[in-house]
Amino acid sequence: MIPPVAQRLKRLPPYLFVQIDALKERMLRQGREVIDMGVGDPDEPTPGFVLKAMVKALKDARNHQYPSNRGLEAFRVAIARWTRRRFGVPLDPDTEILPLIGSKEGIAHLPLAYVNPGDRVLVPDPCYPPYRTGTILAGGRPVSVPLLKKNQFLPDLEALRRQAPGAKLLFLNYPNNPTAAVADLGFFRDLVRFSRRTGVPVCHDAAYSEIHFDRPRPPSFLQVPGAKEVGIEFHSLSKTFNMTGWRVGWACGNREMISALAKVKSNIDSGVFQAVQMAGLKALEDPGNHLSRMLGIYERRRDLLVRALQKAGWPVAPPKATFYLWAPIPGDRRSQEVAAAIMEGTGIVATPGVGFGERGEGYVRFSLSVPTRRVQEAARRLARLPIWR
Ligand SMILES: *Cc1c(COP(=O)(O)O)cnc(C)c1O
Repeated sequence: MIPPVAQRLKRLPPYLFVQIDALKERMLRQGREVIDMGVGDPDEPTPGFVLKAMVKALKDARNHQYPSNRGLEAFRVAIARWTRRRFGVPLDPDTEILPLIGSKEGIAHLPLAYVNPGDRVLVPDPCYPPYRTGTILAGGRPVSVPLLKKNQFLPDLEALRRQAPGAKLLFLNYPNNPTAAVADLGFFRDLVRFSRRTGVPVCHDAAYSEIHFDRPRPPSFLQVPGAKEVGIEFHSLSKTFNMTGWRVGWACGNREMISALAKVKSNIDSGVFQAVQMAGLKALEDPGNHLSRMLGIYERRRDLLVRALQKAGWPVAPPKATFYLWAPIPGDRRSQEVAAAIMEGTGIVATPGVGFGERGEGYVRFSLSVPTRRVQEAARRLARLPIWR
């Protein structure tokens, strides 16, 4: 009765975590204590001052109706103020900022605005999956841009110029998931020059801009003079304020791109619940106590896990940003096999690097978004692991 699904669904990459998911299920059934470091989803609750703002906004009946397509003006103004304070970048709240139902939503929809069937889109390898899947759902072809350790997991822009002609978009993400790499302003300057020369617009995902352990803080790509002429940046409240379940983020920068994305969205969704926008506004006014507390927590967990992995013979260095450890596998075993062995040997779920793209092979990713006590337990278990040679 039901016809086969469309080609675009068949073209999506296979789900690579089947084996890991099945193994985890089996261990849970056996009553073994599983420590899930597979997903990047903050374990700590949303801060109380944001909850309070939400409760107040919930009681205001104006927020019960459809939100406006462009988002609440007050929220856009708060975003502009935050961006100026944090990065020194001025933005016009009316034309250069667009609230999103989580940044993933905007990332996945943007290709619908720019990609015709068969068009190429440059996506990093390894990467956060929606750059690739959003491109495929729009009928485009993702072209892999390798992120290699020898280049600090930054793309080689010189080599990329050969792949650039005709490409419709370039996705990048720093601080980076899954590699935890950070880009400095010098790289973003080169990136803006690259985009000017090649005509490929930049879509920079800054979801982890606030999760960092080093100075200077990670910059915005929009800090480069002229950046607004060549691209947009995605931001999210999810990781910064432990708000992954709330679904709120924004895109900002180039006004043509913002307007094109808004046009796609106005035909698909009806915006972010206004009460959530009001709570997001409050989050952005946080003087910084919440964030510095969270960074202290992640740093402690990071150090516990790095030390344990080092003891087990893994050559990991502490990451400067994000809550991920991108751990190179000693020897030459496959990431799926190693993730399975870690799970069987320790009950710890880690993500095989190949799930983020072919260039992720040779790595596993550990997420630090589990309670510190569980990280301590994970560290104990990992330190006892045999060296993988
Ligand atoms: C978590 C994450 C996001 C944020 O997604 P939301 O939809 O805003 O929750 C965006 N980009 C990357 C790379 C992420 O890891």
